[in-house]
Amino acid sequence: PLVVFGSVNIDMVARLHTLPVPGETLHAQGAHLGLGGKGANQAVAVARLGAPVTLAGRMGDDMFAGFAADALRRFGVSDSHLFRAPAQMTGLAMICTDAAGENTIVVAGGANLAMDDTDVARLAACLTPDSIVLMQCEIPLPVLLAAARRAAALGATLILDPAPVPPGGLPDEAFRLATLMTPNETETERLTGIRPHDPDSARRAAHALHSRGLRQAIVKLGAQGVFFSDDTRQDDTRQNGPRQGFVRPFRVTAIDSVAAGDCFNGGLAVALARGQDLAAATRFAAACGALATTRKGASDAAPTLAEVESLLAA
Ligand code: ADP
Repeated sequence: PLVVFGSVNIDMVARLHTLPVPGETLHAQGAHLGLGGKGANQAVAVARLGAPVTLAGRMGDDMFAGFAADALRRFGVSDSHLFRAPAQMTGLAMICTDAAGENTIVVAGGANLAMDDTDVARLAACLTPDSIVLMQCEIPLPVLLAAARRAAALGATLILDPAPVPPGGLPDEAFRLATLMTPNETETERLTGIRPHDPDSARRAAHALHSRGLRQAIVKLGAQGVFFSDDTRQDDTRQNGPRQGFVRPFRVTAIDSVAAGDCFNGGLAVALARGQDLAAATRFAAACGALATTRKGASDAAPTLAEVESLLAA
């Protein structure tokens, strides 16, 4: 049972040749309304891979909540634990993408930022000890920590995406409660002071993450690859795959990096749920992330299982 606890946004995306600078007004080549928010994106990424998934989170009671609920249903995500909060605004993300696939994003968190203990209770209602729970940091930190405590107390697997890193960083408790964290380059630098750019710097960053109490770390290096590290296994037996390793990037034509990390995390959860070891799951996830960059949009960019399997076999 895969469960996502996190944000739901509506993405208003403008496609431009170049990103605007302050004071500049540009005409977009095109615009698009889509489902986004790291919580919704990760839930859709799981569903597109064919696994059942429940999204626990919050929307407002505006027209965008209906759009989001329709989109989630179309993608096959259960919205039975999604709360429509009265008098709140559904999260909105205003995104500009340029011809090189780079982007700027402004998020108005809305209902996501009003999440509280009642949302944690809704999450707890759908957790079991064999749940794999996906969380991100687009909701209030105290709510995230309360949810992480519930998941950890049950013995569930918690994949925490420290994205975006909260302004004051993350407390050591978050590192201890998470089974696994998946920071990208900038998040890794924020959390450890080490900017990972190759396998060696990624290994040093992973050690810094372990030293704060994190059991398993996956350091995402964007187009440069991924480093995984499991601190719970001091032995060097190959029984459960290698303890540490570097996964080289899949070669794809990237046009839009939005939600690559979310598709990575959704893929990671699906692979772990299928019993893959950390090395195999990281490789599967990297294929999902790579494929997501070949398509525009957030939820709309999530690859299917057939697409991932054909890239893995190539
Ligand atoms: P985030 O979206 O969180 O910033 P990344 O940019 O690191 O995360 O992307 C997540 C993952 O997607 C990467 O670790 C990698 O596996 C894959 N990926 C992203 N960009 C590319 C790319 N240009 N080529 C191949 N794989 C990519």
